[in-house]
Amino acid sequence: VRRGEFELIDHFFRDAGVARADVLVGIGDDGAVLRPPAGSDLVAVTDTLNEGVHFPAGCDARSVGHRALAVNLSDLAAMGAEPAWALLALTLPAYDESWLEAFTAGFAGLARTHGVALVGGDTTRGPLAVNVQALGFVPAGAGIRRGGAAAGDLLFVSGTPGEAAAGLAIELGEHQATAGAGGPAGAGDGAGAAVDVLRRRFLYPEPRLALGRALRGIASACIDVSDGLLGDLGKLAAASGCGAAVELEQLPISPALLRFAGRPGGERMVLTGGDDYELCFAAPPGRAADVAAAAARCGVPVTAIGALREGAGVELRRAGCPEAFRHGGFDHFAR
Ligand code: ADP
Ligand code: MG
Repeated sequence: VRRGEFELIDHFFRDAGVARADVLVGIGDDGAVLRPPAGSDLVAVTDTLNEGVHFPAGCDARSVGHRALAVNLSDLAAMGAEPAWALLALTLPAYDESWLEAFTAGFAGLARTHGVALVGGDTTRGPLAVNVQALGFVPAGAGIRRGGAAAGDLLFVSGTPGEAAAGLAIELGEHQATAGAGGPAGAGDGAGAAVDVLRRRFLYPEPRLALGRALRGIASACIDVSDGLLGDLGKLAAASGCGAAVELEQLPISPALLRFAGRPGGERMVLTGGDDYELCFAAPPGRAADVAAAAARCGVPVTAIGALREGAGVELRRAGCPEAFRHGGFDHFAR
């Protein structure tokens, strides 16, 4: 089948999200007309995935569709927002029916899970790139920011960061090298299952929307971990005008990651691996029980990893002593 641009949009994107009553005009006009609930603030985010930069060339299109929306929903999660609408600007090198089928299935699956309507977009020809814009709401004034924390606040991270970076290494066929350097990975009982867990964490990240919402009024600051825990925590601390101390022994290293990378290697991946889309957040010590209750209600594991303090920069500590580590998040323009 070959479809023209308009037929393509109609066939693949008309029903790629849920139907919502607050979409007054959706796909098919020059613009979407959307009605946010009274008394709410609108939260707007956008993120692009470029082939060869954000996903390997030839990556499963279903994963590309899922991740293109997931990375945006993760930004909404970090703000404590409830997602509602998305726009999709898709640049395709050629018309490829089966690629579009799989891409749309990945996008639509996640959109349905979180009640997101696809309300518009753009479709052009060029090197494969996917830009998504997502819009959501928070009750007026309730958006969680990066800069709201204070010295003394505790630091938490959701889930098990580092796994997605391991999954990407596996996707890229680099895991032999890592296993050689890291030790126990690669062979033995359960290695295949661990590889599946890690690949899945890269290909199909789950944005922490329920947790983000549950943290409204509890977290003093929040950021989603897209470029590595240390780098993103550094941004939260800097925005809050604080330094941070992270206790290395408290870092959550998943069994799959331990098996893949060993102890020092796994720790390094937890600190610097990208693409996790977990939440890193701060809360006053008096709210620790509320954090635990919110996490339990959402069914998301949350780990206390340190605290904010006066000063600047992120210090790593082991058994109470500072430990040197060169770090930084992923930076597209770093030399
Ligand atoms: P215009 O030329 O007025 O910008 P287009 O012809 O590009 O509009 O798009 C027609 C309609 O299809 C618009 O409502 C637009 O938002 C929607 N649309 C185009 N591409 C996509 C896409 N990839 N996903 C969702 N909606 C799309
Ligand atoms: Mg127009």
